[in-house]
Amino acid sequence: MTSCDVAIVGAGLGGCFLALLLGRGGKHVVVVEQGPSVPTAGADFVKRPGMQVLARHGLIGLVERQALKRDVVRYYHDGQPIQECRYPDGFLIRPYRELVEVIYSSCAMEGVEFLFDARIDHLATDGDNIGHLVLADGRELRAGVVIGADGTRSAVRQALGVERKTTAYPHLLRVATVPLTASIAQLNRLYFDSRGWFSYLYPVDQDQARVFVGLPGEAEPSTPELLDGLRSFVTDNADAFDVLGNAAWQTIPISAMRVPAYHRGNAALLGSAAFACHPMTGMGMSYTLHDAEILAEAVIGAGGDPARLEKALEDAYEPRRRAHGELIDYGDALAGTYHDRDAYLRTFRQDLHVFGDTPPMDEQFVTRL
Ligand SMILES: Cc1cc2nc3c(=O)[nH]c(=O)nc-3n(C[C@H](O)[C@H](O)[C@H](O)COP(=O)(O)OP(=O)(O)OC[C@H]3O[C@@H](n4cnc5c(N)ncnc54)[C@H](O)[C@@H]3O)c2cc1C
Repeated sequence: MTSCDVAIVGAGLGGCFLALLLGRGGKHVVVVEQGPSVPTAGADFVKRPGMQVLARHGLIGLVERQALKRDVVRYYHDGQPIQECRYPDGFLIRPYRELVEVIYSSCAMEGVEFLFDARIDHLATDGDNIGHLVLADGRELRAGVVIGADGTRSAVRQALGVERKTTAYPHLLRVATVPLTASIAQLNRLYFDSRGWFSYLYPVDQDQARVFVGLPGEAEPSTPELLDGLRSFVTDNADAFDVLGNAAWQTIPISAMRVPAYHRGNAALLGSAAFACHPMTGMGMSYTLHDAEILAEAVIGAGGDPARLEKALEDAYEPRRRAHGELIDYGDALAGTYHDRDAYLRTFRQDLHVFGDTPPMDEQFVTRL
């Protein structure tokens, strides 16, 4: 049986970043990932809270190097501009895989071990603690601390007996990656309409753009129906329709998720294993980076003492559920207003959209159009 200080299940943004911080803190860390590499699919935006965390750990330069930086999003309703939201520090756009790879590559210098294609057979519990992990190929891993950074279906969360509460959103999300057009390169635009459709178009790099479409209910329109539906309210991105005809659309199920506890015994949950909010808040990754920072401090500060770890997790990490709960509530409230211009404008909060859990500035960053 192999032993380590900390076993992290999942090599997404949360797992890799936590592994890096713990490796820097002198911990022997093993990351167990079921896939052949770090995950390829995920979010694109890092906002102020995440940028500040990356800066604190000397990573912002590496992330910014290939990223796009934007500082305005324009919102439309039924084809008419309704507001512009300005980001005083800008926000970064970098494809998820690239972002995670930057952090994963930095882990090598800290001696973090990664086991890829490593499926977990079961997690052996001993009272409230996870004693060891048994992999499908028979290998066993004993760890002082176990972190579930293994996404919404987290095996660690299930082993801890922590029940999740999931609420599906009343719309389907479709996404396509298409060649970048001039209008998408010019500005990030987010459209809503009275039927409850929404669409967000933004560049992901110098050549490609991402187009998200949200459709109310279970509607499964054909591509021509989808394009006709978009044409009726996506007004300032006419050239996008030159490339959308050939787009390969992917459907992404989205739901909010809350859990009643983020830790038990020697184990804790991180990132999408712990919470999920509406993707249109654009804050999931930024909060996850901050959570990993808090978790790393708790684990390193405990120095291998289970009682100190328990106290640090309770005192410093559990309160994160309040910040996440506020973000989830906000995403839920916004998602219920997409069809209604005035309700959307009333519900929109620049503090959560722009600053998240970092202190907001007094200035006004939203301009009504
Ligand atoms: C459509 C969409 C858009 C989003 N947009 C944004 C955005 O713009 N900005 C933002 O900040 N956030 C956004 N988010 C949220 C963001 O993607 C998450 O907050 C972030 O990816 C969480 O990272 P993670 O490491 O927890 O999870 P993941 O990246 O999902 O990583 C989990 C890893 O665990 C592995 N795993 C799972 N089970 C096991 C197992 N049993 N054994 C071993 N490995 C396992 C998986 O293979 C995966 O590699 C969005 C989310 C969605 C769904």
